[in-house]
Amino acid sequence: MTDAERIRQLREELTEYDYHYYVLDEPLVTDEYYDRLMRELRDLEAKHPELVTPDSPTQRVGGQAAERFEPVQHEVPMLSLDNAFSEQEMLDFDRRLHERLGVDSDRPLQYCAEPKLDGLAISLLYEDGLLVRAATRGDGRTGENITANARTVKAIPLRLKKPWPQRLEARGEVYMPRDGFEALNRQQIEKGQKTFANPRNAAAGSLRQLDPKVTAERPLTYTSYQIAQLDGADWPPTQYDQMLYLKSLGLPISPYMERLQGIEACFDYFRRIGEQRDDLPFDIDGVVFKLDRVDQQRKAGFVSRAPRWAIAWKFPAQEVMTRLLDVEFQVGRTGALTPVARLEPVQVGGVTVSNATLHNMDEIERKDIRIGDCVIVRRAGDVIPEVVGPVLKFRKPQFRKPVMPERCPVCGSEVVREEGHAVYRCTGGLGCPAQRKEAIKHFASRKAMDIDGLGDKLVDQLVERGLIEDVADLYALSLEQLAGLERMGEKSARNLLEALERSKSTTLPRFIYALGIREVGEATAEALAHHFGDLQPLMEASEEALQEVEDVGPVVAFNIVHFFAQPRNRAVIDKLIAAGIHWPKIDTVDPDSLLLAGKTYVITGTLEHYSREQAKQRLKALGAKVSGSVSKKTTAVIAGDKPGSKIDKARKLGVPVLDEAAFEELIGTD
Ligand code: NAD
Repeated sequence: MTDAERIRQLREELTEYDYHYYVLDEPLVTDEYYDRLMRELRDLEAKHPELVTPDSPTQRVGGQAAERFEPVQHEVPMLSLDNAFSEQEMLDFDRRLHERLGVDSDRPLQYCAEPKLDGLAISLLYEDGLLVRAATRGDGRTGENITANARTVKAIPLRLKKPWPQRLEARGEVYMPRDGFEALNRQQIEKGQKTFANPRNAAAGSLRQLDPKVTAERPLTYTSYQIAQLDGADWPPTQYDQMLYLKSLGLPISPYMERLQGIEACFDYFRRIGEQRDDLPFDIDGVVFKLDRVDQQRKAGFVSRAPRWAIAWKFPAQEVMTRLLDVEFQVGRTGALTPVARLEPVQVGGVTVSNATLHNMDEIERKDIRIGDCVIVRRAGDVIPEVVGPVLKFRKPQFRKPVMPERCPVCGSEVVREEGHAVYRCTGGLGCPAQRKEAIKHFASRKAMDIDGLGDKLVDQLVERGLIEDVADLYALSLEQLAGLERMGEKSARNLLEALERSKSTTLPRFIYALGIREVGEATAEALAHHFGDLQPLMEASEEALQEVEDVGPVVAFNIVHFFAQPRNRAVIDKLIAAGIHWPKIDTVDPDSLLLAGKTYVITGTLEHYSREQAKQRLKALGAKVSGSVSKKTTAVIAGDKPGSKIDKARKLGVPVLDEAAFEELIGTD
């Protein structure tokens, strides 16, 4: 293909994507993919300037205004922003400005920075203090009149605070906070209506409604980032002052705005905002840096679609497209078969991903995912990568649906679907090597028997070589057997044997949890241990007796009785005890009589005298619950050094905050 042909092809494709994104609020592809094509087009056009046409997507802003709204001619064009994706591109931006402004390269330029909100641009025109018109950006020259809708957004003042200027056009972003977005999508599912791909599209779709009543129901908010026109007042000399002026008029501005000296300070700001990103209540896709001084902005000027004095430094994409090569089924500890997507490796959120969870078969069905599809993969923060859905534009008829195998891919036993559940299970039980391996991994894990050095790979080897059949066999392993394994020297073998020896001295809650009874997690194991005091009474308890324990319902009670009724499980427990596993007996007490019964605490930051785990244990021993997140039901937040955002949430909800001294008083130490 010649460059000219490729240029034509890219333009056609991008124009189609623009239409779906800007006019229909229904993107066909990810932003990352769109940006990649746009870059390719820009690079080709730079190589062949004679091929640049005014209607090329590289020259235009946004999409056309939809006909269903009255058109608005922007007196000052509403432009887009140039993008940067690396420190190098930021250095280039800074260098170009130094050159254009004739400022020596060793003199830092002053910038004004704020997070780049991921919503849509809006223009608000105030005359004599009153909101007279609100418009979308449209193609930058002609936008859509959406005044009635904008009036329903509570963050947009209908009247400015005094002393207002005669005429003001403010610009900013309308966007949807994350919790509002999630609630909206839940509602859409309930109503059987289509969900929105992301908060940006939800915001655009909500603001561009023909019926303002619909807009009014949507959780939209607004933040200003620019003054476009000002009559009857002095034009503030910097971007920063402009924002403070807007604030004085009652228009919301970003609380994260900062004035920065030089590009190094911009790097630092970008890093800081990046660290806070996951904790912010709204989506941002980067940081916007603007030359602060208005006289310098004027000197720098504009190119066709963006100012030269501003730039959006974008974060690595959290949603990307890649190919679904296959769907495989992983067998878990309880035999559940989980579909896992094997992907063509791809960079997402800054790391390479080649597997992603597909949750269960119902989810695959609901999302209509087929093997061979181009799929959107999302990885936000530290969560496991997940397949969001297929990109239907690239679907081929030969792509087939993944099917649940009838037999376990590991042991060949029959696979059955539990009635009323989305889960399929291998019926092989502990006869299935996969389930056996998982049971052993669980037994050795940190919160169970905490056997240091017994990693997943080692367990796989031990089971595959037939050295162990069940968890009790671990305690019969010899130094020779261990030292003969792959990637195991005598030293690590010795360390492992020591760790096994250490693990024999455990606690009852850990032991119960380590057994891996279905649906008996850490908290339930703890409650069972405190209720029954020792293993024997627990093994003999009836379903009724079990249900007296907090959080134990009929299903869990049945699972426990069923577990202890299996001769195989009893034999393993006997072997473990014979190997020397022991725990201190627990004095059973009535949990309601404890000092902190019914109270819930959240711990944040670093305490000086206690690890998190120790603090948690002390509180629990006194009958309190310890939770990971603050809510209205939280009794108090215990805050150590460098507390996280939990403390802000506590303050917002009026939940008391205790320091370490107050915590010690609470648990009764001095
Ligand atoms: P943009 O979103 O990259 O940046 C410009 C916009 O940023 C402004 O118009 C404004 O609304 C917003 N903004 C947020 N905070 C701001 C601040 N503090 N100061 C100034 N502006 C701020 O550019 P765009 O032109 O709106 O959209 C282009 C992008 O949209 C593309 O890079 C692509 O990622 C996406 N897009 C995707 C598709 C698709 O099919 N997936 C199609 C078209 C566009």
